[in-house]
Amino acid sequence: MRLQLALLVMILGVGSAMYWRSQREDPPVGPEATSIAETETASTADSAESTPSDETSEEPPFNTSPEMRVSLTNSARNTYRFSSSLPSEVFLDNNEQSDRILDPTRSEVTVRATNDPSGIQIGTETFSANLVRLRTEATADFWVNDHQYRGEIWFHRLASGRVLAVNHVPLEDYLGSVVDSEMPASFPDESRKAQAIIARTYALFRRQETADEPYFDLYATTLSQQYLGVQYRANDGRRLAGESKLSRRLVRETAGMVCLNAGALFSTYYSAVCGGKTTEGSILFPDAVPLLKSVPCEYCAAAKLYKWERSWTIEKAERYLSREFTRQGHRFGKLSGVKNLSDEPGPASQFLFTDGRSERTLNGQQIRTLFTGLPSPTFKLELTDTELLFHGAGHGHGVGLCQWGARGMAVEGKKAAEILDHYYPGVTVAPRTK
Ligand SMILES: [Zn+2]
Repeated sequence: MRLQLALLVMILGVGSAMYWRSQREDPPVGPEATSIAETETASTADSAESTPSDETSEEPPFNTSPEMRVSLTNSARNTYRFSSSLPSEVFLDNNEQSDRILDPTRSEVTVRATNDPSGIQIGTETFSANLVRLRTEATADFWVNDHQYRGEIWFHRLASGRVLAVNHVPLEDYLGSVVDSEMPASFPDESRKAQAIIARTYALFRRQETADEPYFDLYATTLSQQYLGVQYRANDGRRLAGESKLSRRLVRETAGMVCLNAGALFSTYYSAVCGGKTTEGSILFPDAVPLLKSVPCEYCAAAKLYKWERSWTIEKAERYLSREFTRQGHRFGKLSGVKNLSDEPGPASQFLFTDGRSERTLNGQQIRTLFTGLPSPTFKLELTDTELLFHGAGHGHGVGLCQWGARGMAVEGKKAAEILDHYYPGVTVAPRTK
């Protein structure tokens, strides 16, 4: 069960991100192929070429505990690209400090497993260990695969001979990047404070769930929450900020605050645009707590994907449907009729398809996995002479906080606590006590 749940959470993710970010990388098995930062606004987060926060400024340091373990890729790799500009202290297996120092690489080097049964190679340096942990005096000196990170980098050599790069970073530093990575800087502060609180809650909840996991708590991607680091290089070579002074200030202003359900942390699902009404959490997520109810939301009406239309030719739609029905062990011929069986559209709403001889049903969520690129599992269907039309609403799975709705509420003057209480009715927002 735990494994299944982990898998589902991996597939669906927590955030907007959730049915997340990457239509490009990962056609929606689940909904959310994109984070709102990419799809709903012109620029990436705030940040097009903005300046990352400057640690040398007078900002007081964040409380350094607890520490998050963030896997920088969705799976172990044969190689990572790495660079540093200062000498690094090196710790090996069992966290014993090595008497060696890793010299600054200046430019990128490759990190990979050695040919020996154990060992990790960083550029021309080799270490006979299954763990190489790098620490530097600088706040953010390490670059891994085009992202610059605060904290330490741990390279684990796995039994498979692959390497896993994990960033060990104080929670509040991590959140400074998540807020900008998940929500545009143009959104009002109170919506971004709400984002900071639910991102913190999600991270601490995951950390609690992964206490026995050997390597990491979260992915740096929309499999968990998007975490771009201090800055990163975009595909076109530009350097973009992954955090900002403002995002770090908002994290500081909400420092330690979390959402609690009956006194406990929970998986604070969130989604880019609900399209008018959020989705009951238990429909999609086995670990959804009862307060993840469906609530009305007109606050996201300014989002491009508040309502949307998509269409497929009948021939294409037939191909997708008959492939699915064949997989289920049924024959299906020419699509001749479609009926919406549920009043309310959503992932659990039922649709009846007929080829004139037999009738088959699928729900919104199943259909979304067949017709890749649908922004959400919330739609009604219409069959015309030539096309299957989708009349849809929202972007993402629709569970929990609606990010565009949070923006709309903040524009109307609502505070972060009111926003959270709207999307998680009855939630307690309080300082973390453990
Ligand atoms: Zn909404």
